[in-house]
Amino acid sequence: MTTTLITGANKGLGFETARRLVAAGHTVYIGSRDAERGHRAAEELGARMVQLDVTDDVSVEAAVKVIAAGGGLDVLVNNAGVQAEMSDGDVVVGAAELTAEVMRETFETNVFGTVRVLHAFLPLLRLSAAPVVVNVSSGTASLTRATTPGDPVHAYRGVAYPASKSAVNMITVKYAKAFPNMRINAVEPGYTATDLNGKAGTQTVEEGAEIIVRLAQVGPDGPTGGYFAKEGTLPW
Ligand code: NAP
Repeated sequence: MTTTLITGANKGLGFETARRLVAAGHTVYIGSRDAERGHRAAEELGARMVQLDVTDDVSVEAAVKVIAAGGGLDVLVNNAGVQAEMSDGDVVVGAAELTAEVMRETFETNVFGTVRVLHAFLPLLRLSAAPVVVNVSSGTASLTRATTPGDPVHAYRGVAYPASKSAVNMITVKYAKAFPNMRINAVEPGYTATDLNGKAGTQTVEEGAEIIVRLAQVGPDGPTGGYFAKEGTLPW
């Protein structure tokens, strides 16, 4: 039996990933910072619920205790994320408007949150026979694409969100190297209609969740330290 925790799974790509992994036979914990929203999602999917705010040490430590008592953890999907520079699907904070506060808000969830959750759950993951981590990154994280004229990532005006996801990519590479017995990868779901972008994304959540679901199910002989979209490997 595989036990999986997905952060920020009460809606959007996390929710769809949970739905698919429940169908694949995983015991899934819906991580939700709001217990009520989490309970509703878990009930709908036949999943478990754990209150988990990735920006809050106390909440994350309590979630570790709940999942340890439930029998441990095999798969961690770091999915919770914010795109603070967007409003109604438009980037409203570009380089000219960027403040340390917007940068901090973005990194608090996307970067420090990911490290907080990883650090807290490492002891449980190390007890698993086949530990897997999926860090939900973004295509905007790619320095190669950001510096290639004509690529949509080059055209993207925001700074804080891509910088946070580039940090997630580096974290992925470093953790994969440090823990060779774990499969640890970064994924780019693609531009998907969710609340993150005011539903402006061009893909459905079913399409977006595909690569997250695939890397969450990777076997011990599968890739680690990679950066994947559903079309294949992405340039860093
Ligand atoms: P979404 O529908 O807005 O979902 C984001 C989820 O993260 C929500 O469940 C939200 O919870 C949760 N969250 C935010 N801050 C949190 C915190 N401090 N602690 C715990 N949970 C928190 O957006 P989404 O598009 O599904 O995004 C999921 C992931 O995919 C993100 O990492 C995002 O960067 C990435 N991504 C999305 C796209 C896209 O086009 N949609 C593209 C590339 C990458 P609440 O409901 O409580 O706010």
